[in-house]
Amino acid sequence: MELLKKRILQDGTCFPGGILKVDSFINHQMDPILMKSIAVEFVRKFASTNVNKIMTIEASGIAPAIMTGYLLGLPVVFGKKKSPKTMKNALCTKVHSFTKDRDYDVVISSDYLTPQDNVLFVDDFLAYGNAAMGVIDLIKQGGANLVGMGFIIEKEFQHGRQRLEAEGVRVESLAIIEDLSDCRIKIKD
Ligand code: 5GP
Repeated sequence: MELLKKRILQDGTCFPGGILKVDSFINHQMDPILMKSIAVEFVRKFASTNVNKIMTIEASGIAPAIMTGYLLGLPVVFGKKKSPKTMKNALCTKVHSFTKDRDYDVVISSDYLTPQDNVLFVDDFLAYGNAAMGVIDLIKQGGANLVGMGFIIEKEFQHGRQRLEAEGVRVESLAIIEDLSDCRIKIKD
């Protein structure tokens, strides 16, 4: 997605340890016009599947997920990082965050992840694939079907895609970062 690649090169910054910061347009302040274009791309890639539900994890996945759900007219559900006491029938998985270097739980009610659901998972980043593997676990627990996973930005050098494809998952990313070493952003053509 050319518009996104240009924006990453223009406004993205990198941090040691292979972290890309896109806080001015995706992760903190958000550009809704760009976010809509991102959702249009996800729709283009997945509209021909039998998707009937969009799933993400709070917080940064919610914006692209809700835009995609809006365009497709489908419900959007997000995994929560803290389990509310009032949540019934919680499904739970553990995810390791490499940006924060800690484990956290992701919970979702089995009321919203069922064998009737054909799920498209949408998120901001694919890095090592830990969050996405947790989602695969939740989808299995709920008995739902995963139709694919769409990421705004994939960091190819952290190899998350291989783990997901080994599970038979269709992976689509809108911008692929080949390298961030020496704090230079190298994006795949
Ligand atoms: P993974 O679980 O694939 O290793 O990492 C994906 C999650 O970690 C994403 O949901 C995102 O929130 C966060 N993440 C991974 N890499 C980056 C990065 O370079 N920049 C930012 N802002 N978040 C990242």
